[in-house]
Amino acid sequence: MANIDEIVAAFQPWRESVKRTAYRPIPRDGHHPGHLSHFGGSPMLAADQQRPICGRCGAILSLLIQLDLVRLPENNLPWQAGLFQLFYCPSMEDEKGNFCDDFEAFSECHKLQVIESNASLVATEAGPFDFPAKDIIEWKPFVDLPGAMEQDLLGLRFDYDFKPNETHVSVHWDEANLHFLDIVDENDNLAELISSAQEGDKYLGWPNWVQGVEYPNCPECGEEMHYFLQIDSENGVDHMFGDVGCGHVSYCPNHPDQIAFTWACG
Ligand SMILES: [Zn+2]
Ligand SMILES: [Zn+2]
Repeated sequence: MANIDEIVAAFQPWRESVKRTAYRPIPRDGHHPGHLSHFGGSPMLAADQQRPICGRCGAILSLLIQLDLVRLPENNLPWQAGLFQLFYCPSMEDEKGNFCDDFEAFSECHKLQVIESNASLVATEAGPFDFPAKDIIEWKPFVDLPGAMEQDLLGLRFDYDFKPNETHVSVHWDEANLHFLDIVDENDNLAELISSAQEGDKYLGWPNWVQGVEYPNCPECGEEMHYFLQIDSENGVDHMFGDVGCGHVSYCPNHPDQIAFTWACG
């Protein structure tokens, strides 16, 4: 009977078939004028734009991240140049009892936009709740894999049998005719050992889902949106999403102005 290590090793061809390159942003404290990719701080805006306001509480939204699109290490996004910006209202509760800090896609407490590259950009005044600015000085590539929650969408099948003292699992990759039956999953983590998405901030790769696979749907065409950016708690942005939640940004391939931010925690 194969042991857990041998089973995990047997899925290497599957991992090869689903792996993606992701990029880790390497931040440096502080903001240097002219450096357009950063966490926190205040955004650059077109001359005729005001800093966006929270639709719920009216506060000036905080910038989570601004990306200089031409400087991304790899770009299959619908926007090749200009600035991508994610704004967010971190307010837990204001004097009127508004609760922002919202996890839902298309929340009135979020604003996502791309400023075209031909706009003449101006620096903006600091807002009252801006996060500390950290320039992104480098993108470090690494190999990323899908999280366990996404494996069944990618051809793997797990059948669990929860016995009083131990979990038994059968795992199948039907396409490759690979089957392991009735394995004792001692640490209840065979699926995670086969593949896990990396935590932390990253561009591209696979989303590290916390609660379940939650690609938002485009409000215009209903199609599943495409993930491209993960913003994790207390990483580049000094903010905790719920209880150590993890955030994801996605776009609609048909409607590039439809961009969503969501987060979930355990
Ligand atoms: Zn708000
Ligand atoms: Zn759409």
